Amino acid sequence: MGSLRLPGGLAAAWLARVLLVAPVVAQNPATAPRTPARIAILVADAADARVRMVGEAVAFWNDSVSDLGLPAAFAEPLSATPPSGLRPFENYAHQLSQLAGRLHSSDPGPKPPEALFRLDAEVVVLLSAQGLMPFAWPYGDDGRYFVAIPAGDEREHVVRNVIAHELGHVLGLKHTREPGVLMCQPCDTSAAGGGDRSRFLPLTDIDRARLRAFFGWSGP
Ligand SMILES: [Zn+2]
Repeated sequence: MGSLRLPGGLAAAWLARVLLVAPVVAQNPATAPRTPARIAILVADAADARVRMVGEAVAFWNDSVSDLGLPAAFAEPLSATPPSGLRPFENYAHQLSQLAGRLHSSDPGPKPPEALFRLDAEVVVLLSAQGLMPFAWPYGDDGRYFVAIPAGDEREHVVRNVIAHELGHVLGLKHTREPGVLMCQPCDTSAAGGGDRSRFLPLTDIDRARLRAFFGWSGP
């Protein structure tokens, strides 16, 4: 139940970096350089298979950024049990999902529930009980994200890629008009396959360039 606000010194350090380094970092200060973002998982049933898939998606991202010589993107996800229960989060997810496609991330959108600000994490992942549109939505004023993953899809290879896709948005990635890549929009879910070799859809060179920019990478 720690404060959501960052220690002043840390926020100030990020701000200084934002001003000196790159505007793209400014959009995501909470997950910017060298501090792996903390993920809080909200789920009604701790045995939900999606909990494991969040862990797999986090490992995928940490491996992917490590391959680029970048620091870990995410810390080990932790399950959270907010005193308010999940209702405020489900309501907020429903509101945002209804607005999907009609809301730009620069719009304030519906007011986030107070309970969201009381979670001690940069990324809150709701493994929803609803069949909503998945999304990653920024909230607050320091680059935090609320991610919602719908219930009801039994295709693990699809759900796993949906989770990784939404976490990709948290890392500053945007959609690509190629159906068979991770940040696809529209997507061809059959491209995700079922075998081990294709557990996650591929990243593109544009994704990799954006990841480097997101982490403030300044190589050749
Ligand atoms: Zn997307």
